[in-house]
Amino acid sequence: MRKNEEYEIEITGMTDEGSGVGRIDGMAVFVPYTIVGETVKIVVVKALKNYAHGKLLEILKPSPHRLKAECEVFYRCGGCQFWHMDYICELQIKQQKVEDCLRRIGGIDVPVSPVLGSEKQRRYRNKAQFPVSREGIGMYAPRSHCVVDTQDCLIQDERNVPIVQCVRDWMAEYRIPPYDEKAHDGVVRHIYTRSGKRGVVVCLVTRTKKLPFAEQLVQALRALNCGIIGVVQNVNGERTNVVLGRSSKTLYGQDWLNDDIGGVEFRISPHSFYQVNNAQTKVLYDTAAEFAQLRGGEVVWDLYCGIGTIGQYLAKSAGKIVGVEVVENAVENAEQNARNNGMSNAEYYCGTAESLAPKLLEKGLRPQVILLDPPRKGCEESLLRTAVATGAERIVYISCKPSTLARDLKILQELGYQTQKVQPVDLFPRTSHVETIVLLQRQDM
Ligand code: SAH
Repeated sequence: MRKNEEYEIEITGMTDEGSGVGRIDGMAVFVPYTIVGETVKIVVVKALKNYAHGKLLEILKPSPHRLKAECEVFYRCGGCQFWHMDYICELQIKQQKVEDCLRRIGGIDVPVSPVLGSEKQRRYRNKAQFPVSREGIGMYAPRSHCVVDTQDCLIQDERNVPIVQCVRDWMAEYRIPPYDEKAHDGVVRHIYTRSGKRGVVVCLVTRTKKLPFAEQLVQALRALNCGIIGVVQNVNGERTNVVLGRSSKTLYGQDWLNDDIGGVEFRISPHSFYQVNNAQTKVLYDTAAEFAQLRGGEVVWDLYCGIGTIGQYLAKSAGKIVGVEVVENAVENAEQNARNNGMSNAEYYCGTAESLAPKLLEKGLRPQVILLDPPRKGCEESLLRTAVATGAERIVYISCKPSTLARDLKILQELGYQTQKVQPVDLFPRTSHVETIVLLQRQDM
């Protein structure tokens, strides 16, 4: 196989990132925007030792699932991977991905339930982070930091359209320079918004502490009348891919957003994690409730608890909720949310789950049920060992990354917890990401 050569191939599989996979002379070629079963003409754009990357030139035999992408920037933007197929096909791919990871990495052969799909496949996100650069404002191109200028992102809340335009106009009028990543120069780095039923909080991430013409920006944003309840400046002076810096200043209104999941109220600060798809979060948490099987009276550990969402969603059926979270703001939110929800049976600890879990055990807070909801990299092995040492009857593991989930389930399985149910939930339509919730049961020796 040679670079710049054209080939006709059949797509026979998918990568975790959502590219189709075909073969040339037995070697795997990854081709974005293709679907299993299609015959396509490609050009090899990169040939490595064990695999290659191809670019789709022509679809010779299309899949019956193929659709014309609704999004105008889909083939340039790195945000979504699946606008070129129908939703049934997308859900099948996600189920397969979870199955493959569990089998390959975890050695787990439990049936994976069909993915619970999202009613909305557009406009479902409540959090947007648009990078601002000299090339424009929008989204990063695949595997790069080049910004694709976009007027609208179809998975985002519609209110972002006038907001982003307003920031563009304000930058043009007052000659506010966009951030230049290479030179680490310029002012505006990201437009970050959180939106919900109760309004929108707009956060402008800047490199510099000084924000010229901030007053004019606030006025222009408020004049949009699109439900903005707060405008915040966050300062990030570091050379980093992390979006938010440490310090923030509220320029107008409030820096938090209130939202509810199935009637349970939450306050969310800009630094706190909150699931991006509200309707599907309810589906996820209802599944968590089903898997937790609380009868009342149990001590439940809610590890990686964020602003306390899952634990508080289940709190009325539990004896006590013990939450652990590393982000200080999120813990403050969790405590306040518990008070606002009238829950006196929830307590929160700030620190890493791996360092605090052994201390909770020493304190005598032995759980019957443990909820694990770590970030993409999964759990530290030491935390899994502590979880097992508690002797909890059930562990409910929520994961946004099937490969690390599979790795952790394998460890838990070896330590005596059997995977009983695996339920993927689609929180991220049109992207290759999928959330999975797993029930593990202690095997009595
Ligand atoms: N359960 C919450 C949050 C899940 S996201 C919800 O459903 O909304 C994962 C959370 O884990 C984030 O809030 C992140 O700040 C936190 N986190 C990351 N690493 C951690 C660690 N080592 N210990 C505890 N919390 C951690």
